[in-house]
Amino acid sequence: MIKNYQTILTNKKQLVNNIYFFKFKLIEPLEISFIPGQYLILKVQGKPRLYSIASSSLEKNTLEFIIELFPGGLASTYLDKLKIGEEVIFHGPAGQFKLRENDKQKIFLVTGTGIAPVRSMLKSTLDIGGLKLDKEVGNLMLEDQSSNFQSQNPASNFQHQTSIFLFWGLKTYKDVYLFDELKEFNLKICLSRESNLNMILEPDRQYFDLGHVDQVMERQLANYRLQITDYEFYLCGGRNVVESLRQNLLSKNIPQEYIYFEKF
Ligand SMILES: Cc1cc2nc3c(=O)[nH]c(=O)nc-3n(C[C@H](O)[C@H](O)[C@H](O)COP(=O)(O)OP(=O)(O)OC[C@H]3O[C@@H](n4cnc5c(N)ncnc54)[C@H](O)[C@@H]3O)c2cc1C
Repeated sequence: MIKNYQTILTNKKQLVNNIYFFKFKLIEPLEISFIPGQYLILKVQGKPRLYSIASSSLEKNTLEFIIELFPGGLASTYLDKLKIGEEVIFHGPAGQFKLRENDKQKIFLVTGTGIAPVRSMLKSTLDIGGLKLDKEVGNLMLEDQSSNFQSQNPASNFQHQTSIFLFWGLKTYKDVYLFDELKEFNLKICLSRESNLNMILEPDRQYFDLGHVDQVMERQLANYRLQITDYEFYLCGGRNVVESLRQNLLSKNIPQEYIYFEKF
């Protein structure tokens, strides 16, 4: 149900370049329920701007966001000036981008701040103990642990183990953020504008590859002799990138009902 949420800003930090982490504490009401993947609406001078919730749905009295601030942008300028302790009202939650309850293996293809709703999905599932690393195949598995699950969580009815692969597209190594927490997942950061990975410490290199998300994904599937048609896909990022990823998947005979997406 769409409601107004009165919050105050409790934490704001620059992650890299124009990408900022924002954390708000709920004041009225004191709690929020949302499905991981949903967004909230912020009105700036009466104009709505949408922001995907990046925190776990089990953290009910705080909200986290990962936001790129565009110079001169309406909401960007407002958020840039916003100070700790100041009040912000959000409306929502809304949106249909959510983890599907089925036993299909899942591939996330996200670019830039498109990581925000995916972080919420993964953290929410991890927080309820629903993810475990299958060391043998190196996959993240969603486990059926229905007894621990909360009813609003989309992972609540998984009956089988489901693999999750996360491909996150960024331009260069300097654009990487939240690496330490995201490497807990089955992650490949795909650097589109680097020509080698020499600048990355040896133990971390396994989490990186060169190229666009779809190129890296296709290479990985080929390396492990996996079939692209065995997966369902979650796409998130800039409008044009998501549309071109979607068209690419359709051209590879992925049915459109197995492609879920959020265009920023
Ligand atoms: C469902 C949904 C969820 C979203 N979640 C997030 C999120 O989690 N994090 C996040 O950072 N953003 C997210 N967005 C985008 C966000 O809603 C705003 O569009 C964005 O913050 C820019 O708003 P603005 O008012 O600052 O810029 P505007 O005043 O709308 O635009 C000013 C200028 O900024 C530049 N600009 C604006 N948007 C883009 C863009 N996407 N790419 C390149 N240049 C741009 C353009 O030059 C534009 O002319 C989401 C959008 C949607 C639809």
